[in-house]
Amino acid sequence: MGDYVTRVSRNQNFANLSAGYLFPEVARRRRDFQERNPGTKVISLGVGNTTEALSPRVAEGLRLGAERLGTSEGYSGYGDEQGSGELRAAIAERLYRCPIAPSEVFVSDGAKCDIGRLQALFGREARVAVQDPAYPVYVDGSVIAGAAGAPAADGSGYAGIAYLPCAPGNDFFPELSQAPEFDLLYFCSPNNPTGACATRAQLEELVAFARRRGTIIAYDAAYAEYISDPTLPRSIFEIPGSREVALEVNSFSKPIGFTGVRLGWTVVPEELRFSDGTQVSKDWNRMMTTLFNGASNVAQAGGLAALTDEGLAEMRSSIAYYMGNAALIKAGLDRLGVPNYGGTDAPYIWAQFPGKSSWQAFEGILEACAVVTTPGSGFGPAGEGFLRFSAFGHREEVAEAVRRLEAKLG
Ligand code: PLP
Repeated sequence: MGDYVTRVSRNQNFANLSAGYLFPEVARRRRDFQERNPGTKVISLGVGNTTEALSPRVAEGLRLGAERLGTSEGYSGYGDEQGSGELRAAIAERLYRCPIAPSEVFVSDGAKCDIGRLQALFGREARVAVQDPAYPVYVDGSVIAGAAGAPAADGSGYAGIAYLPCAPGNDFFPELSQAPEFDLLYFCSPNNPTGACATRAQLEELVAFARRRGTIIAYDAAYAEYISDPTLPRSIFEIPGSREVALEVNSFSKPIGFTGVRLGWTVVPEELRFSDGTQVSKDWNRMMTTLFNGASNVAQAGGLAALTDEGLAEMRSSIAYYMGNAALIKAGLDRLGVPNYGGTDAPYIWAQFPGKSSWQAFEGILEACAVVTTPGSGFGPAGEGFLRFSAFGHREEVAEAVRRLEAKLG
């Protein structure tokens, strides 16, 4: 790198990001371990990335979508920025147990991208609250948007973010009565990283709280399809009164393995309004038509195929596969006497290592078992002392990882 620099100042918000996004640091430590142990096969239970092949119906939908583009009758260029009418209707009808109008469904290139756009929608003045621990994008995206204020000197968080601790002691549901004032709450259920899934009573409490305070819930339901207990809500919109106080981000990534294909959606109910009476959906529509140009038409063809009867049946079986992995990990941790949570309605297991920091527990398991996990402290201050185990992986590798844990830590 030479000495030349431009006259452009760095955006201070980027400088405010805490050092190293969690996953690059995990990858660095893994590489370091592998260099020191070149003959050892490292197994990762660390990332939330899907590993299994697309199901046949979905692969066929993608293939036919691409083939159509290769014919003059089937070719199409830009489509509706909000997504194809057919896909919007299919999402509303097939994935929700409560009434959602297709016009309230905005198809996108994924939930993470929508979360980034949400922060631009609400602006830097919006005071943000998160569950602690939380999927890192809510906080880091708020920092980039300039809504998070300065980082605390000890690296434990940001002055402008309200962290609502979620731990075994409160059943991973925040003590709302003690929450400071905020405008926007990111709430993720089933939760990444804790694997907790909010009950109907908890979500009723959340909606009642939001209505009392006049705040908006940005509900992240990216793992809704992993819920096995039929009594648990799959959407915030199953809760009466939620349509005035919530929007919901969702994704095809985890249910049908579209992490690389990219397809998601956000539901913005028409009743949700800003303090001046403007519909939030009006500005969201403007956001999607201005800063987004529509999800890939091939990806949408794949998404539509996933929502046929056959596609949905295949989706159930691939979710059952990953949840089989979760059961193996959970049973192994139980046999080791490691307190653990989640893993029944979410593909994550949240394991507690009393007396150890998250990075100490991470290093201990990497060095002894050559198994990569994710340090809980990377998800927020309340994650300290925990590790997240992900159920995304090939079955034989997950089984081998569990055998190693039991052999080395038992
Ligand atoms: N929301 C949560 C809670 C996630 O865990 C993830 C991915 O890990 C996403 C959103 C991102 O989803 P997408 O692939 O649709 O961007």
